[in-house]
Amino acid sequence: ETKSTASGTIVSADQAEQERRGLMLVLSSPSGAGKSTLARMLLEREDNLELSISATTRARRSTEVDGVHYHFVDNERFSEMAESGDLLEWATVHGNSYGTPRGPVEATIESGRDILFDIDIQGTFQLYEKMRDDVVSIFILPPSISEMKSRLRGRAEDTEEVILKRLKTAVGEMRHWSRYDYVVVNEDLERAYENVRAILKAERLKQKRSGAVGKLMDGMVDDLQDELK
Ligand code: 5GP
Repeated sequence: ETKSTASGTIVSADQAEQERRGLMLVLSSPSGAGKSTLARMLLEREDNLELSISATTRARRSTEVDGVHYHFVDNERFSEMAESGDLLEWATVHGNSYGTPRGPVEATIESGRDILFDIDIQGTFQLYEKMRDDVVSIFILPPSISEMKSRLRGRAEDTEEVILKRLKTAVGEMRHWSRYDYVVVNEDLERAYENVRAILKAERLKQKRSGAVGKLMDGMVDDLQDELK
């Protein structure tokens, strides 16, 4: 129940959090920094947050489900999507194409829900160009290079060659950490999660995202001013 009188309840705290434009939460990190685990924890524990499901030409891993982890498409379909403007951003990572379908992102943030992206730095910078105000970016860092290497080697499915390729990409990506809004070191998973959660919470409360509530505020101030005349 919302009233714009100076003396009554203006707006509930729940409403203030809900009646706003959603934000785009981007998590990036070199492979082996624990980004995917953090993303999964966020999706499980946070209300009002959904995942942007990318399209990719990469082969599906045995643990992945089409339409859940990625939309697995062939090169032809990917090019079609890119050419028809269906992708908000796209990039080539380790020889495969990855891109973000536009429709679900727009629908989600317009409905006041937030959307999480697990994309690389190339994609993040493209989103900056298009929708800087909506993007909140977090760079996840591994606590050390040796820890990063051992996390990568722990992934039984990848060959040594793939691991080396990922390490090379990681070096290039880590140089750009300062273009992210936030940096979180993932030494302890729960602690890293708490930091990401705090960022999300504060960003949700930002004045520029206040949407409908901002307008109610103006009405409230006007009414109060009239009452005091
Ligand atoms: P993986 O093949 O391990 O699932 O992902 C490889 C890399 O591609 C990761 O760094 C991931 O963040 C990135 N990636 C996944 N989806 C997208 C996307 O839609 N756009 C961009 N630019 N990168 C993506």
